[in-house]
Amino acid sequence: MEDNKTTGMKSLSIKLENLTKIFYDKKGGKDTRAVDDFDVVIPAGKLIGLLGPSGCGKSTTLYMIAGLLAPTNGKIFFGDEDITELSPEKRGIGLVFQNYALYPHMTVRKNILFPLENMNLRKTSIDEAYRQAYDIESPTEAEAYYQYLSKLEALQNKYRHLESDAKAIYQNALFVENVTYKKAIKEKRGDKTTLKANHKAKLNEIKAKLMAEKKSFDEKYIEEKKAIIPQNLELLLPTIKAKYEAVEKAFETKKKAIIASYKGSKSNDPVRKQAEIDSAIEQVMPKSVKLVHEAKAVNYKKLMRDSAIDMAKLVGIEDQLDKTPAQLSGGQQQRVAIARALVKKPKVLLLDEPLSNLDARLRLQTREEIKRIQKETGITTIFVTHDQEEAMSISDEIVLMNFGEEQQKGAPQEVYDNPKNLFVAKFLGTPPIGLYQGHIKGSKVYIGDAPVFDSAKLKAEKDREIVIGVRPEGYTPNVNGALGVDCDFIETIGRDLSIVATHKDAITKTFRIILSDLTENIKEQSVIKFDLKPNKTFIFDLEDGRRLA
Ligand code: ATP
Repeated sequence: MEDNKTTGMKSLSIKLENLTKIFYDKKGGKDTRAVDDFDVVIPAGKLIGLLGPSGCGKSTTLYMIAGLLAPTNGKIFFGDEDITELSPEKRGIGLVFQNYALYPHMTVRKNILFPLENMNLRKTSIDEAYRQAYDIESPTEAEAYYQYLSKLEALQNKYRHLESDAKAIYQNALFVENVTYKKAIKEKRGDKTTLKANHKAKLNEIKAKLMAEKKSFDEKYIEEKKAIIPQNLELLLPTIKAKYEAVEKAFETKKKAIIASYKGSKSNDPVRKQAEIDSAIEQVMPKSVKLVHEAKAVNYKKLMRDSAIDMAKLVGIEDQLDKTPAQLSGGQQQRVAIARALVKKPKVLLLDEPLSNLDARLRLQTREEIKRIQKETGITTIFVTHDQEEAMSISDEIVLMNFGEEQQKGAPQEVYDNPKNLFVAKFLGTPPIGLYQGHIKGSKVYIGDAPVFDSAKLKAEKDREIVIGVRPEGYTPNVNGALGVDCDFIETIGRDLSIVATHKDAITKTFRIILSDLTENIKEQSVIKFDLKPNKTFIFDLEDGRRLA
């Protein structure tokens, strides 16, 4: 765990292990494998862009990390702790959605304060202080007791999820049986009374199966619970409390003695006398008692108000605190949502397409703002988006997904420069990569008859058809170059030329070539010859898209 010195926020690494989510189709259709055996490690304090096309499983992954969806399989760790079965409130996450989800009738200040009011900050803080105090005075018992509580919660969540999955499968089976029955009646597949009786029997069978499953869950739950109950559970809490209370009582006695010892002294400076008493008491106060006393002495109302102001300052909306959300721009509303997510000092911040509802200018501005806030707080952040440019510009690392699986993970530039497969090469880059169909012969790659690329890596490959990808900046004009492309038209963008080109073997109708620092005279409506830059040219298998060179 890393601590941020300025904001006091902690950040944790996140590890997903074989994470899988299957949505069972309630109408008997095909189930959806939204996330499939997903493994990823997100380092503490980094901003990760979870990127991929619509429907690839990004939001499902995020909601499983948040605890809003239960995985079908696999585990989620925050640091070393397995949080797969932990309830969302206990995970220490801040969530920001695309639609801000602010309360319209509350002021900005109230909106930011809401999570703190909702969690009963006073009670949770004092409970936490007691927990730490118990840990000091009664470490063995406290560890056994609190470990039991968290194991119990995980167990309860596990069986809640299992029951809800079983119920979904049951409803699915009911649906299928009802449809089959109606069809059988309609198509007169037999005598009505027999069909009805069979249907009833089938429904009973399905129901019995669910009941049996529930019963078996109950039995397993009881058994598993037995295994985690510490032998001396009944005695644990009273023992812990008694130990702490004894320490507290001993301290109170010492405190009284100190006060009494000063009673007779005739110091004529009462302020100094009080300071001396306080210091003497402080010296005999045990650390555990101090923790509890301090937690009780906090003015939580003020603390909450100050936290709301601090968060508003962090996101740059401190002058908007008394407005309602409707009086703010979309970008400002999203900042309020971020402040609200951060006010509980989460260990992980999850952002689901947070910029999608903003216009282009605000999107850019808010994107930079999110990057700054993340750097300032050092909070581990997952940013979900389908916009590759957004992910590339904001992220320390991107994780590119497709069909519920990781395609590639790495620093944005690294992934752009070294795509593992055709999907990654196509998904990243504006303008997009130009693709040609060609073939390998020995170590050489041809587009039509033109040898355009040579790599020793290809020697081991069979001669065959392949796909060649060339980044827009991967072309060097050369009158004797191997590849001639047809230039449709040219745009000058600052110092660069952007050529919209075609080629008979190109896979897309048109593609772009970007040329910087041009000395040659390039003309529209002509064939232009190029050499391809080896580090900007990628060769892919035609069948499975795997990168060959
Ligand atoms: P988008 O960018 O469009 O939000 P995404 O990458 O976030 O897409 P998910 O929302 O995670 O994708 O969806 C992944 C797959 O799971 C999709 O095929 C989707 O239809 C399916 N899916 C998501 N939620 C459910 C659900 N509650 N029930 C059934 N299928 C679902």
